[in-house]
Amino acid sequence: MASGGMTRTRPNLLVTGTPGTGKTTTCSLLVEATGLRHVNVGELVNTKGLHDGWDEEFECHVINEDLVCDEMEDMMEEGGNIVDYHGCDFFPERWFDRVVVLQTDNSILHDRLTSRGYMGVKLTSNIECEIFQVLLEEARTSYPEDIVVALQSDTIEDISRNVTILTEWANNWRPSGTS
Ligand code: ADP
Ligand code: MN
Repeated sequence: MASGGMTRTRPNLLVTGTPGTGKTTTCSLLVEATGLRHVNVGELVNTKGLHDGWDEEFECHVINEDLVCDEMEDMMEEGGNIVDYHGCDFFPERWFDRVVVLQTDNSILHDRLTSRGYMGVKLTSNIECEIFQVLLEEARTSYPEDIVVALQSDTIEDISRNVTILTEWANNWRPSGTS
């Protein structure tokens, strides 16, 4: 039985992790495999102006979490979303059926971020974010432990395996209370 307004018939999945761990690549492939909707929060922030200005040091918009959650509420309630963002503690806990934290070996991540043009504080803070497992910790403190899963994302083979695992999960998901 659906209750408390939790009536979505398709699952919501959050894919989080340090920038460069492969969130957008993984989500794009997952969308092809499942037909779910890709919600790239960073792009949403830019296109809808859901921010409080520009951070010079990190060269990114300062996200306005309330505006982002308001913007996403209706589609999250409807279900069938794959949310892609390098943060997870400000989304309502009830939105997600699964929270995936992608993780990458430090030296591999360093190379990816360097080829993306990251340097200085932006580079070192993101590498530290990965070393200290900031996103895994954030996910574990924000969501029930049985829905949080860490997946390694070092190689192309890892991506294929992760997409297979998550596609299977999405296809087998049923609304709670039904069998
Ligand atoms: P994010 O969205 O987490 O910032 P992207 O999906 O944009 O990461 O990936 C960043 C770069 O790293 C891209 O060039 C992508 O092709 C590469 N990449 C990501 N994950 C992997 C992986 N598991 N194996 C090989 N290359 C990867
Ligand atoms: Mn991305």
